[in-house]
Amino acid sequence: MKAAVLWDLNKELDVRDDVSLTDLGPGEVHVKIVSSGVCHSDVSAQNGTIPSGTPCVLGHEGAGIVKEVGAGVTEVAAGDPVILAFTPACRTCKACLRGQANLCETMLQMAITPHFIVDGKQMGGMTGLGTFAEEMIIPENAVVKVDPDIPLEIVSLVGCGVTTGVGAAINTAAISPGSSVAVIGCGGVGISAIQGARIAGAAEIVAVDPVESKHDLAKNFGATHAVKPDDIDGVKNDVGVGRITEEITFNAFELFYGDKTLKGSMYGGANVRVDFPRLLRLWKAGKLDLEGMITRRMPLEDVNEAFRAMQAGEVIRSVLEVGR
Ligand SMILES: [Zn+2]
Ligand SMILES: [Zn+2]
Repeated sequence: MKAAVLWDLNKELDVRDDVSLTDLGPGEVHVKIVSSGVCHSDVSAQNGTIPSGTPCVLGHEGAGIVKEVGAGVTEVAAGDPVILAFTPACRTCKACLRGQANLCETMLQMAITPHFIVDGKQMGGMTGLGTFAEEMIIPENAVVKVDPDIPLEIVSLVGCGVTTGVGAAINTAAISPGSSVAVIGCGGVGISAIQGARIAGAAEIVAVDPVESKHDLAKNFGATHAVKPDDIDGVKNDVGVGRITEEITFNAFELFYGDKTLKGSMYGGANVRVDFPRLLRLWKAGKLDLEGMITRRMPLEDVNEAFRAMQAGEVIRSVLEVGR
């Protein structure tokens, strides 16, 4: 089968057709990938901002069809359409039990378990997934079954960007009706955050992006204003996933006197078992535009071109049509 391998940091992905999988173990699911979104975190794994280890199959935003299940798997069966979650929700660890399934303690184990074999060498997939591949093996806890009538390219976006962005607005920031919101960056996550703010009832939504062509786009998704970073004081730095070595400084008095809060948002603070179906219901109700976020469709072989287009600010989301 085909898969896109990152052999070393800062190298282009190597799309090969001689990749195989390890044997399917108990509690695991063998999935045929149909659609994979290309997310900026894939580039962050490529350049080392997000430590993923090499070699590694990239891709963490995908949807597909269950091909086979391992012993003891009860929640899905062959033929089921599923979203792949880059953080599983085991429902038994401390993080899951206290309502932070986005930090599920089984995440690390999933991330370090190798499931791909290339040239006789075993390797893992990004975050334990690796959706830039025609097939994959992941734990049962990391798949969420979806309605068969929803197109899988729509479903795939929910695997990362949409859950992260809408979740940041609804779960992490808990935006209330009438709020004023600024969203910095109008890629897949930012556009999703704008939509989340709109769904939550924000009165003003300011989209901030250096690429001017994205300003009208952002307004189509619910932004009421759109500006370049230079037009807003204090919004002049890059944001997103930072490196371990990057530190943030801020004015301690302002934090106190403005009663300000700084919050991280991992996977939009989502519980994938609750939020994936919730987001797809919002889509079905016409309140969340997912089709409009897909700017380009391309084959797996063009993954490096998809990376270039994303970094050039040409797309909201490129979707790789991996299989059928
Ligand atoms: Zn857990
Ligand atoms: Zn992502």
